[in-house]
Amino acid sequence: MAYVAFRDIRENLYGKLKRQLKDPEGIVARGWNIDEVKTPSELSGLRLPVNLLAYKYCPTNRDLYLNKVKGIRQPPTWPSYQGRLVHGLMLDILKSVRNYASRPHNIAKIDLLKYAQKRGRTLIENATINIDQETAKFKLRPSQAKKKEFVNNLHRLVRMESEIVSAFVDYTIATNEDINLESEFSRIFAFQQEICLNAGPLGLTPSIKPDFIYKPGDMVIMGEIKTGELKEFHKIGVAAYAMAYEYEEEVPVNFGIILNVAFRNRNVPIYKGTEAFVISDEYRKAFLNLRDQKLNMLKDGIEPERVPDKGQCKDCPYIDCC
Ligand code: SF4
Repeated sequence: MAYVAFRDIRENLYGKLKRQLKDPEGIVARGWNIDEVKTPSELSGLRLPVNLLAYKYCPTNRDLYLNKVKGIRQPPTWPSYQGRLVHGLMLDILKSVRNYASRPHNIAKIDLLKYAQKRGRTLIENATINIDQETAKFKLRPSQAKKKEFVNNLHRLVRMESEIVSAFVDYTIATNEDINLESEFSRIFAFQQEICLNAGPLGLTPSIKPDFIYKPGDMVIMGEIKTGELKEFHKIGVAAYAMAYEYEEEVPVNFGIILNVAFRNRNVPIYKGTEAFVISDEYRKAFLNLRDQKLNMLKDGIEPERVPDKGQCKDCPYIDCC
C-alpha cells in the first residue's frame, strides 16, 4: 500500500485524476441520492456483500445461485490462498509501522527500516505457519517449489513496502527540526484501514469493508487490493464501496484505485497493473444493474444455466463443482 503514496508523489496521481474528472456535479448515482440508488421495493431486505453483487465471474450468475441457493461454499484454491495472504500482509505491515511511528521515540534511535523488515518476517512466519495443512485441502495442490516461491514473494513485498515507508520517514527526519512522527506518518501515508460501512438500502450487507481508503488532502480515493488477473468488474466493486461511503458519510468519492500486486523474476513485486480511475456513472450504474439482476435471480430462485462455452469458466471458483 505504501506504493500508492509513493506513486501519488512520483506521478501526481491526485492531480491527474482531478483533471480527468472534469465535472463532479455530472455524477448522478451518488450514494446519498437514495431515490436514485436504493434497491427496488420488491427487492428491499435482500442484501449481499460487494464481491457477490458486483463481481461477475459467471456470465449467467450461476456461481451466486450455487453459493446462496444451493449453499455450496466457494472452494478454497491456491490462487485465492495467495491473494488472502498478500492482502493480509499488506494491511498488517502498514498497520504495524503506523503503530511504531505513534510510539514515543528518541529521534536519534529511530530505525524504521529495521523494524519494518523484522516485523514483516514475523508476519510472514505467522501467516504461513500452516501452509502445508491449508494447501493440502485444495483440489489442485501446489508443489513444494511453488510454496517456497510464494513465501519468497511475500519477502519481496515486505522488502519494497519497508523501503518505501522508511525512505519517506527518514526524509522527514532529515529535513525537519521539530518532528511529530505520528502526524507526519499520517500525512504521508494518508490511509484509512478497517473501516466498516453500512448501506443496507443499496442492497449491501452490514459492515462491508473496503481494503483501504486513501485520503490525500480533501480527497477520498477508494482502494482495493487485487492479485491475479484484473477484471473490468473489479472497478464495479470499487464503485459499490464508494457509493456505500457516500451513503453513510455524505462525502463524494470520485476516485478509485485498484492496487494490483504480481510477482515475476524480480526482487520486488510488480505493481504495473495498478490503475487509478474516476468512479463515473458508468461503473455506478453497472453496479445498480448487476445488483438488481442478481437479487431478482435470488428472489425468484430460478436456477441459471451453465455457460455453453467452458472457456468462460476458467477463472470461476466453482469450476470443479458446477
Ligand atoms: S463453472 Fe462456469 S457455468 Fe459454472 S458457475 Fe462458474 S462460470 Fe458459471
